[in-house]
Amino acid sequence: MHKRLFIPGPVEVRPDVLEKMALPMIGHRSQDASNLQRRITEKLQHLFYTKEAILLSTSSGSGLMEGAIRSCTAKRAACFSAGAFGKRWYDMAQSNGVAADLYEVEWGQAVTPAMVDEVLATGKYDLMTITHNETSTGLMNPVEEIAAVWKKYPDVVVCMDAVSSMGGTRIEVDRLGVDICITSTQKALGLPPGMAICSFSRQAIERAKQVPERGYYLDLLALYEYIIKKDYQYPSTPSLSHMYALDYQLDRIMEEGLTERFARHIEMAERVRDWARNNFALFPDERYLSNTLTTIKNTRAIDVGALNRELGERGFQISNGYGKLRDATFRIAHMADCTIQDVEELLYNIDDILGL
Ligand SMILES: *Cc1c(COP(=O)(O)O)cnc(C)c1O
Repeated sequence: MHKRLFIPGPVEVRPDVLEKMALPMIGHRSQDASNLQRRITEKLQHLFYTKEAILLSTSSGSGLMEGAIRSCTAKRAACFSAGAFGKRWYDMAQSNGVAADLYEVEWGQAVTPAMVDEVLATGKYDLMTITHNETSTGLMNPVEEIAAVWKKYPDVVVCMDAVSSMGGTRIEVDRLGVDICITSTQKALGLPPGMAICSFSRQAIERAKQVPERGYYLDLLALYEYIIKKDYQYPSTPSLSHMYALDYQLDRIMEEGLTERFARHIEMAERVRDWARNNFALFPDERYLSNTLTTIKNTRAIDVGALNRELGERGFQISNGYGKLRDATFRIAHMADCTIQDVEELLYNIDDILGL
């Protein structure tokens, strides 16, 4: 039996979107490919609230994260982390020989504007990384307030991981002053895994020109220069199947309306939070709860594996906690094309299994 996914990626993909992945191929150097890629770019600029360039990468989101920190750090990177994905940036810097420092808060807490201010004020850094929605803890960093700080340091290239929130919550990339905002197809966009997307600002472009060793496949400047020169085409063969599906899904997202889509995510999040407060407790700082997934403290010490097996027999799947929170928490994702009815059905079944 197919299990409906309530895990924070990959998510359920609508059958009509999946069908687009099965369309016949076109040449990746054809005018049709250029047109497809241009259409996608224009729609993504709308979704990201940006006028800057859009890059697609046939990799998952981690690929563009690695490409961003490597391509755009000339001096030193400051990595602000509120959990596993925040720290991933630092690990990427280390393994690429990029000079970086890690600034962490406790899991469940948010990165604070004061902390970012103190670090950037040292003048040591020309790039910073931040996670918009920390999927390991179910927390959304207060990027509006933090943006007021990074705007005081215009030489710092701001890289933001919005992998588990772009498409599920409003992120106004240009207004926030984010230079590289990254997402993946398999989360709030509601597509199969295999492609990543980022915005790429003028400032990021100029910075990358000062970095001699940017790698090859994930050299963001090379991607950018190629799409400019070759009418939106890519240096290597992209996943055209994902592009068909993305082109179609972005139309569906616009048809729903961005405001309506973000409101639906908040409605689902509030329903799951209420359920969690009544039966368990919320894990992260309540001021910064994620709109796309909820991390629940396992206050009843339930066997999450056993719950998931029973849910599986009923056609549902939720997620255990991440890393060191594996047994202490569990996670319910409510993103992409998930509806409030889907959430109600899931919670009804969990209640029934646990006798709540
Ligand atoms: C899933 C996730 C990633 C990793 O993305 P991939 O597409 O699997 O490489 C990075 N950051 C966050 C916040 C995520 O949720």
